[in-house]
Amino acid sequence: MARRRGAAAAVAAAASSPALVAAVSVMALGYYSTVFVFLDHWLGLGTTAGAAHAAAFSLVVAACFFSFLCAAAADPGSVPTAFSPDAEDPQGLKSRYCDKCSMYKPARTHHCKVCKRCVLKMDHHCVWINNCVGYANYKPFIICVLNATIGSLYSSVIFVCDLLRTEHDYGILYVKIIHEKWNNLNLWKSFLAFGTHRI
Ligand SMILES: [Zn+2]
Ligand SMILES: [Zn+2]
Repeated sequence: MARRRGAAAAVAAAASSPALVAAVSVMALGYYSTVFVFLDHWLGLGTTAGAAHAAAFSLVVAACFFSFLCAAAADPGSVPTAFSPDAEDPQGLKSRYCDKCSMYKPARTHHCKVCKRCVLKMDHHCVWINNCVGYANYKPFIICVLNATIGSLYSSVIFVCDLLRTEHDYGILYVKIIHEKWNNLNLWKSFLAFGTHRI
């Protein structure tokens, strides 16, 4: 069970990390545009299919956000205070001593320069959660990455389905911009094809 860093410490850490705020903002923007712009435009949120997609996508985003919070707020893995190195291995003693924390550390424990502490089974320091990924928060981190991948693919499918609609509402700004760009691209393609034929 992952130990929490404490609500106050987690909020303070979040406020001091622009990358973490950016990650939450991207999640919120992705959710809003997928459900309230693309999906609403494609199927309509009032329809059964639209409501079902909205519920499924909301579930994925909620799971992603919850695991994100768990990974960010958890203590990634503290070295137990009672830890003492194996006295029968004098060769390994020096290499497993952290000068900065002034203590011995178990195998696969590394000192994080950002967190300024030793972390058990440290994988890396993730700027997006403003925390190390280690022994105690590896699971929620992987769940968060998996949910973010599923959510991104789901969002892309909804976006493409919306774009491939035959009837478009050109009063919506993003539809207008994308179709103008698409038409311009087709114009250039026709121009280039015409030039090639003449040669
Ligand atoms: Zn250390
Ligand atoms: Zn760290």
